[in-house]
Amino acid sequence: MALKVGKNIDGWCTRCKLVLGHTIEAIAGGKITRVHCNTCGGQHAHRVEAPRTRVAAERAPGGGGGSRASKEQVKRESEYDALLRGRTKAASRPYSTSTRFAVGELISHATFGLGVVTGERDSIKIDILFANGPKVLLQGR
Ligand SMILES: [Zn+2]
Repeated sequence: MALKVGKNIDGWCTRCKLVLGHTIEAIAGGKITRVHCNTCGGQHAHRVEAPRTRVAAERAPGGGGGSRASKEQVKRESEYDALLRGRTKAASRPYSTSTRFAVGELISHATFGLGVVTGERDSIKIDILFANGPKVLLQGR
């Protein structure tokens, strides 16, 4: 369905608290930015459906509250645990900028502790996941 100003569209009315017929008032970048409710006449941003819990909320640009950060922290820790499962410091190589490392390799860092190489950016930079989070470190210098 082509979006056009003046067309009717079903959407959530923030005033009626119902999904009702709305008339499109403004479109920007292919998205409906403003509608008015055909029932109460109220103008508001277009919502497809009733606002849901935060779980349904997509990552908002510029957003990022405290709860999201902690969620990512949890995810990161479990990823870290999974990468280190069954591996100990004995299997690691000490980190040094002059050494080259392979993806998946376990390394021990004087400051950050044990980490796993998760990727190679280019010939001199590697991504390493430490318990405190991901870091980009130099290699082979
Ligand atoms: Zn309404």
